[in-house]
Amino acid sequence: AKRQGKSSFAHFTPEMSEVSHERLQMESRMRRALELHEFELYFQPIVDTATGEVSAAEALLRWNNPVMGMVMPDRFIPLAEETGLIISIGAWVLEEACHAATRWKDITGQDIGISVNVSPRQFRDSGFTKTVMQALSNSNLAPDLLELEITERLLLDNSIETAEILRELDREGIRLSVDDFGTGYSALSYLKSYPFDTLKIDKTFIHDVTKTPGGASLVCAIINMAHSLGLTIIAEGVEEESQTHFLKQEGCDLSQGYFYSRPLPADDFTVWLKAHLPK
Ligand code: C2E
Ligand code: CA
Ligand code: CA
Ligand code: CA
Repeated sequence: AKRQGKSSFAHFTPEMSEVSHERLQMESRMRRALELHEFELYFQPIVDTATGEVSAAEALLRWNNPVMGMVMPDRFIPLAEETGLIISIGAWVLEEACHAATRWKDITGQDIGISVNVSPRQFRDSGFTKTVMQALSNSNLAPDLLELEITERLLLDNSIETAEILRELDREGIRLSVDDFGTGYSALSYLKSYPFDTLKIDKTFIHDVTKTPGGASLVCAIINMAHSLGLTIIAEGVEEESQTHFLKQEGCDLSQGYFYSRPLPADDFTVWLKAHLPK
């Protein structure tokens, strides 16, 4: 083991120091991004599969940095989690998202839900429930219009605290969904022991629906299982019309993907929204 330590030191290259320099630079930029108002929420519609009418939207975070340009979440969320910055960034996302949904109600007179991604570090922070309740009361949004998206990864630890927080949020009337369903390798038994309302089938499964017979039957099985447990099902990553036919036929409740709309900046989303309201 000693020798290994020595050899990894010997392999420390200028490229590696460049990588960690970049990381540090990104971290220090991220620390200032909130106060410099560099974060922005995009909204992607979630529609009724049968009618195409809008039901809700998912809030997706973007970082506009003057040096780096627009940074996508996959590039900075992991670092935000590692450094704990996701806790303050996530609180900002919740505030902003709830206010957006309240505005949609003011503009359209309709209840449009808002889904917010929650990372494990953020969820486990002791102030999380309070932050959520604060965002709801500050925006005056009905709790059942807020859905928190949680990945199966979070449930792997099987902790009592996780279960308790989920139950507390559920008691408050907030909706809970399992994001990226099917990618987390966790046992399915959690579905009946936790108070989830919604399953979001991961886009890799939706992609396979019209490509392979196996892909289609897998999605059918997931839809049927979700319905027998009383869960709403959302298909993610719907890109093609053929997928929408399949999902309609199989009774998938809600759909989301480029076929309907890309994630949009707030103003563009409002325009889209007015054109897709339930009659
Ligand atoms: P996710 O929660 O699975 O979000 C869906 C991602 O799929 C989004 O990528 C969205 O733009 C993309 N997408 C939507 N429709 C389609 C489609 O038809 N085809 C394909 N190929 N992709 C589609 P995005 O916006 O880059 O976000 C990536 C991930 O970053 C999200 O995955 C989520 O895990 C994370 N994320 C985004 N915003 C937040 C946030 O506010 N907080 C936290 N903790 N994580 C976030
Ligand atoms: Ca999500
Ligand atoms: Ca519930
Ligand atoms: Ca997802």
